[in-house]
Amino acid sequence: MSLDRPPSPIGRRRGAASPSERAGLPVRADIAIVGGGLIGLSIAWRLARAGRSVVVLERETIGAGASLAATGMLAPAAEHEPGSDPLLPLALDSLRRWPGFRDALEAESGQAIDYRPDGTLVLAVGRDEVERLRFRHDLQRRSGLDATWLPGSEVRRLEPGLRPSVTAGLHCPLDHQVDPCRVMAALAEACRRAGVVVVEHAPVTALDWSGGRVTGLRAGEDGVAAGTVILASGAWSGEGGLLPPTLTLPVRPLKGQSLALRTTARTGTLGRMVWTEQVHMAPKSDGQLIVGATVEDCGFRPGVTAGGLYALLEGARRVLPGIEEMEVEAVWSGYRPTSDDDAPIIDTLAPGLVVATGHHRNGYLLAPVTADAVAELVMGGALPEFARPFTRARFAQPEPKRASA
Ligand SMILES: Cc1cc2nc3c(=O)[nH]c(=O)nc-3n(C[C@H](O)[C@H](O)[C@H](O)COP(=O)(O)OP(=O)(O)OC[C@H]3O[C@@H](n4cnc5c(N)ncnc54)[C@H](O)[C@@H]3O)c2cc1C
Repeated sequence: MSLDRPPSPIGRRRGAASPSERAGLPVRADIAIVGGGLIGLSIAWRLARAGRSVVVLERETIGAGASLAATGMLAPAAEHEPGSDPLLPLALDSLRRWPGFRDALEAESGQAIDYRPDGTLVLAVGRDEVERLRFRHDLQRRSGLDATWLPGSEVRRLEPGLRPSVTAGLHCPLDHQVDPCRVMAALAEACRRAGVVVVEHAPVTALDWSGGRVTGLRAGEDGVAAGTVILASGAWSGEGGLLPPTLTLPVRPLKGQSLALRTTARTGTLGRMVWTEQVHMAPKSDGQLIVGATVEDCGFRPGVTAGGLYALLEGARRVLPGIEEMEVEAVWSGYRPTSDDDAPIIDTLAPGLVVATGHHRNGYLLAPVTADAVAELVMGGALPEFARPFTRARFAQPEPKRASA
């Protein structure tokens, strides 16, 4: 078994996305984006295709935040749970945009992204889990989501590697998946071909303000003047530093650990994404099986822990005994950018300053709709209807009531 052991974060699946062309910072651009993750690059590509000059500044390397740590599920049905109804229309809208996004991305980058429309199986083992699965199924049906109840025998017919103890399952045909490493590599290349300047190892240290308007940004000694600055700094967007106290965002890091197993003809694999109450597993076309992900509200605490890996492996082995023979190829951790209501924040914070963050565990699912919403906001001056429920205003504290005289 070989594991990468850089200090932190540990080992990324198949390495980082192909780095963009290194370039010096331009002194001026129509748009300057803070953060070279999935959201920053999706927006950059969209705006560059519309003819804008765009520069992206990334503190580390492309995708080094959450984006290369993800599993790549586009799974509004399997992920649907109590409280997520407000997000569902946006999630379904984005899912419908994915085929167009994929086609354009693959054509303009010349790279495939392993888009798989195989659906999800959500499993139950034992009576208690079956009851909870029935509750989930009712919730899905009430929200108009397509999901079919399957007895254990039918689940095992679809996935012969699963244990006989799997009692029932829900098949969610709507759920699709992509390979995050391929998406990030394709986005980096599509951005490069569209003329986006991506500068890695360029931490943004301050925003420039003039007359109540953001006019650019600073990266140490260097500065970029920009018509619009877009904050797409993921889990770090809630940190103080770049924003004045009146504009801080209710976003925090939610750590997730995952691992990649190597499947072979001998070990077998899964034909589709499988969910249990403990883990999800996602087979990729190159033979990797991703097992994810822990959910840890522990702030920025880098690294992969024995407890995290144990929970993932135990959860996977409970339903798929074949994992015992699979080689562990990589382990890693990342930080979901999570807002106080788990939904994204897409908004104008001040003249010249736009934000797109808080995508929590749905960044891949929501990337196409986010890029379109931000493009319309920047170029048309207003958020499209579908994105209006996701401004920062929803977190505003009600004014304290004044005592009447
Ligand atoms: C374990 C795990 C599994 C996941 N699985 C899925 C999944 O299956 N499906 C799904 O849809 N989503 C999934 N997600 C969520 C998804 O990965 C995120 O929602 C998405 O990647 C967020 O993208 P982002 O660009 O906003 O953030 P990031 O990828 O974190 O990018 C933000 C970037 O900003 C940079 N940055 C921060 N501050 C500065 C600064 N001052 N100057 C310059 N750069 C800065 C950071 O270095 C970082 O690279 C998962 C996340 C995790 C952690």
